[in-house]
Amino acid sequence: MGTAGANELNKASSERAEPSTIMLKTSESLEAKKKRARKIVSALHKSYPDADTALRHRNPLQLLVATILSAQSTDETVNKVTPVLFKRFKTARALAGASPGQIEEIIHSTGFFRQKTKSIQGACWKVADTFGGHVPDNMDDLLTLPGVARKTANVVLGSAFGKCEGVVVDTHVGRLATRLALTWSGKDSKDAVKIERDLMEIIPRKEWTFVGHSLIWHGRKVCPARKPDCEHCTLAGHCPSAM
Ligand code: SF4
Repeated sequence: MGTAGANELNKASSERAEPSTIMLKTSESLEAKKKRARKIVSALHKSYPDADTALRHRNPLQLLVATILSAQSTDETVNKVTPVLFKRFKTARALAGASPGQIEEIIHSTGFFRQKTKSIQGACWKVADTFGGHVPDNMDDLLTLPGVARKTANVVLGSAFGKCEGVVVDTHVGRLATRLALTWSGKDSKDAVKIERDLMEIIPRKEWTFVGHSLIWHGRKVCPARKPDCEHCTLAGHCPSAM
């Protein structure tokens, strides 16, 4: 199934008489949506009790760099190159001061290596010069780092600092939020900013970090872009797109 739009969701829900608790519908009230979201979060806790980023890291700087590298790549690929990168360059200043070619050679396999090198070095310069070599632990400062947007900032804040400042919305979360009808503001599943805002409105703050990562796991394992496995999905009872 491709990205579920309103028509697809309405069609899916109208074709299924049972269970009656599945209501998607554009007419679903905010309160009903919040209630359904709580059930989804509860089911996610059961399925993915330890959901967190799969990017290996030992400190906030490593997670920041790994997250930049993960764009358009897989976590497995990133986890192969970061040990080499961090063994050679241990600090923000060391990464910032490296020649671009040294970094490009190591991260080449993650794709878009020239742009990623620019982002890593730009962010590391700022961390070294403005923040004393320490990755900032708040959203406003993180967003001043070149190449860092809310998704990367949310990963770092949630998984390196244990702070729930927002919900990580990547391609999996965008798709799942749309299929689960947990978003209503954006024009499609790629509208990350609006999807994040919707999720923050209906999900309790303490769950924001967990929800992002558990939906990523669920998207990978059960609900990929093609062929969602609705038959074995633990969220099917709360999903208007279930087939
Ligand atoms: S029931 Fe599960 S697998 Fe099927 S569309 Fe909904 S979330 Fe995805």
